[in-house]
Amino acid sequence: MNDIENKKYDYLIVGSGLFGATFAHEMTKAGKSCLIIDKRDHSGGNIHCKKIEDINVHWYGAHIFHTNDKFLWDYVNQFAEFNRYTNSPIANYKGELYNLPFNMNTFYKLWGTKTPIEAKAEIARQISHLDITTPKNLEEQAQMLVGTDMYEKLIKHYTEKQWGKKAIELPAFIIKRLPVRFTYDNNYFNDKYQGIPIGGYNKIINGLLANCTVKLSTDFFEDKNYWKSIANNIVFTGKIDAYFNYEYGELEYRSLRYEMEIHDMENYQGNAVMNFTDADTPYTRVYEHKHFEFGTQPKTVITREYPLKDNKDAEPYYPVNDERNMAMLKRYQLLAEKEPGVIFGGRLAEYRYYDMHQVIASALAKSKKELRSE
Ligand code: FAD
Ligand code: UDP
Repeated sequence: MNDIENKKYDYLIVGSGLFGATFAHEMTKAGKSCLIIDKRDHSGGNIHCKKIEDINVHWYGAHIFHTNDKFLWDYVNQFAEFNRYTNSPIANYKGELYNLPFNMNTFYKLWGTKTPIEAKAEIARQISHLDITTPKNLEEQAQMLVGTDMYEKLIKHYTEKQWGKKAIELPAFIIKRLPVRFTYDNNYFNDKYQGIPIGGYNKIINGLLANCTVKLSTDFFEDKNYWKSIANNIVFTGKIDAYFNYEYGELEYRSLRYEMEIHDMENYQGNAVMNFTDADTPYTRVYEHKHFEFGTQPKTVITREYPLKDNKDAEPYYPVNDERNMAMLKRYQLLAEKEPGVIFGGRLAEYRYYDMHQVIASALAKSKKELRSE
């Protein structure tokens, strides 16, 4: 036992990702003692960056901060200045390039339509025989939004690769994350505020955790009872099913595998994100990290993102919010409600497809509620 562990804390926080770090920051500010443990050898969870060739490499996939909420924007800007990066991925379908999200540039490239009226008419023509009123799944939702041939080229195969399921088996909400615009605007997000922290995301995490005690390479489950005994309250940001020892079965996640390459050239693909939307290319996206920060380094680092079926060793990235998993989640949530002194938060413990700003909002709300209930 060392000095860190030989002490009673107000909060033991399992996980130093954005949820754990934000919660710890707020509680520390309010005078509470917090110990944060993480099983990884670094803090920050999935927003962690590694410096390679003087470039901030988004180690667990590209992260672009975006929000409509001025309060949350100001909150993250306390810790780092943000640049003016606007996400505008390029879709590559068998060598044909299209602008994303779906907008007048995409429609023009595919159909030659030049006005919103022409583009809308083409979509209506394509779906007129389909008889969709309320879309029941991702396929129907996507066809309704952008027509059948854009669905085929830019959505169907990408989605089925990424999720390892047929588009008809996936919930419609997933595709509604993407804007469909009848303007010539390639901005992937509709939010008012968007950017990348200059110097990378570690600046945000280091700022949040500046006055907190963090113990890395420490898995809560290796000695759950001990970790529970050293704090009055637990904040758990790992997998909710794992916390309850998979009592009702395993919640399903989609995972990813990354292959990084360093290239001895200044500019590999001319854009930060390229999506490969055909069925045969085995990866879904290629990131060129320097473009997130307008880098001019002599070399470049790219990452190919491959979909991976969840398994015990794979990182659980995306909750699969279909009916079966949501029903199982409900049962776990009932157990969680009966677990005294434990707060469950973040993408894994809440089993929600949260973006960064939503995780911060959730951590702020839960820390506030906790302080109010004293
Ligand atoms: P995590 O970051 O997963 O942190 C959980 C932490 O808990 C991890 O560090 C883990 O090691 C630790 N942990 C788990 N179990 C244990 C245990 N038993 N013991 C100890 N430690 C444990 N959001 C955006 O806003 N914009 C984007 O562009 C964007 N892109 C994304 C791309 C990808 C590929 C993915 C997967 C996500 C993306 N997100 C994006 C979402 C964003 O990553 C999450 O919203 C956010 O990082 C979740 O934070 P968290 O703290 O809930 O979870
Ligand atoms: N999507 C697609 N084609 C693309 C990009 C996205 O079909 O070129 C679909 C896919 O189903 C994906 C969803 O839109 O899961 C949401 O995309 P987003 O980029 O928000 O996914 P994330 O960044 O969370 O992986």
